[in-house]
Parts: sequence; C-alpha cells; structure tokens
Amino acid sequence: MHSYQKHTVISVRNLTDTVYVLRMTREELEFSPGQFITVGLLNNVHMREYSIYSGVKDDYLEILVKDIPQGYLSSKLHQLSPGDEVRIEGPFGYFLLSEEHLSKPLHFIATGTGISPFHCFVRSHDIDTYTLVHGVSYGHEQYEYEDYSRKNIIQCTSRDTGGNQHMRVTAYMKNKELEHNAEVFLCGNSAMIYDIFDLLTAKEKPSEHIHAEVYF
Ligand SMILES: Cc1cc2nc3c(=O)[nH]c(=O)nc-3n(C[C@H](O)[C@H](O)[C@H](O)COP(=O)(O)OP(=O)(O)OC[C@H]3O[C@@H](n4cnc5c(N)ncnc54)[C@H](O)[C@@H]3O)c2cc1C
Repeated sequence: MHSYQKHTVISVRNLTDTVYVLRMTREELEFSPGQFITVGLLNNVHMREYSIYSGVKDDYLEILVKDIPQGYLSSKLHQLSPGDEVRIEGPFGYFLLSEEHLSKPLHFIATGTGISPFHCFVRSHDIDTYTLVHGVSYGHEQYEYEDYSRKNIIQCTSRDTGGNQHMRVTAYMKNKELEHNAEVFLCGNSAMIYDIFDLLTAKEKPSEHIHAEVYF
C-alpha cells in the first residue's frame, strides 16, 4: 500500500459541458512541471492518473479532466463539492522540460485534455519560444486559451470549422517543417502520439528529442 495524502476540494470549474478543472488544496506537494498525480476518492481503491494543470508557484493544485460518462472515476470527481476530500499519490513521471530545453524551439502537441501539462509548463516557466497545437473536435473546446500567448496556439478541429485549422493534428503536422534543434512534446491519445512519432522519425527527427505522455 502506497502512502497517500488527503487534499480538500476548493472548486470545480466547468470549461465545457464535459471538461472541468478540479482545484484542490496543495498540501505542500512538490512537483516538477509535466508530472502527474494519481487521484481517488476516500475509502476507495480506484485511482486514476492526472497531469498537474496548475503551476509550481500556485498555492493550490489543479487537474484538467474530461468527464467520461461511461467511465468510473472522471464523472465521480465532477460531482465533488468544495470541502470534499480526495486522496492523492505522487507526483510521478518524466515528461519534463529540462534547463537545456528552455533555450530551444518547443513544440507542444496535444489532443483534448492532453493540453494539461503544457498549461503547467507555461504557468511555471517564463517561456515564449513555444508553439502549442491543440486537437479537439469542436471550436468551442478552447480550454483557457487566455493563459497562453494567443499567437503561439493553433487549434485543430476535426468536426467543425471553428478552429484555426479544420483538420486533425496529424494532418497539420504532416506539412510542418520543424527547426533542426526543436524539442517536441506529445500528450493525449495514443493514436495521435504514435502517428506523429512515426511522421517525425520519418523526417529524421532523432527520437531523443521527442517526448511523449500517453493518456489512453
Ligand atoms: C500519465 C497519465 C496522465 C493522465 N492525465 C489525464 C489528464 O490530465 N486529464 C484527463 O482527463 N485524463 C488523464 N488521463 C486519463 C485518466 O487517467 C483516466 O483514464 C480518465 O479520466 C478516465 O477515467 P475513468 O475512470 O472515468 O474511466 P475508465 O473507466 O478508466 O475508462 C473509460 C475509457 O475512457 C477513455 N479515456 C480515458 N481518458 C480519456 C480522455 N482524457 N479523453 C477521452 N477519453 C478518455 C479510454 O478509452 C478509457 O478506456 C491520464 C492518463 C495517464 C496514463
């Protein structure tokens, strides 16, 4: 049995009908931007992984979650109220920006809630050398884009024309030439991650400059 910490829910902030930010007390949790925690209900063995959405300097802890109605935990977390407690383990993971990366062109590529670690990156580090490509179904799925430099975001929408590009992230990246020293960070569903990984390695991007966090 791992040791866990109890954290108290501060608020649940809905960004769309299904995507929300769960803000909790930080309880002095130390982490590096890009890491994830596991979250569960008290007296319940089921835990799920969530990237940390808030920044290292914030005095609260946030995760960005998609409510999957047929899923087990994400819809239960959505029902929590301020004052409720959750249990948390971690932090875990190696999806990290190093000092060396900070001086390079950065390409952050996400699908859905896979934008979460990139939110933590931009809140924690003073960086402006990044491009964020965010793949979603519809244009209204703009998860707090005001927290990024607007010029640095490209929203790819697969099911309407509401984004900057009406195509999948993979199609957008196909024609994109990256700087030779670029570092690429991929986060979200495995289909996107494997496709982009193949596409970049076919363009002779060394795999040590491609970082990935697979959600499902
Ligand atoms: C390292 C890591 C970090 C993660 N970080 C996040 C995060 O920051 N935000 C987040 O929302 N999820 C994240 N996930 C996914 C999360 O752990 C859960 O799998 C998800 O919340 C579903 O849990 P559930 O109990 O509701 O559904 P389950 O009963 O466990 O499964 C339902 C099904 O939902 C699908 N699914 C899982 N996650 C998603 C998703 N994000 N979008 C669409 N479909 C999905 C899968 O096909 C899964 O089989 C992460 C996963 C990993 C491994």
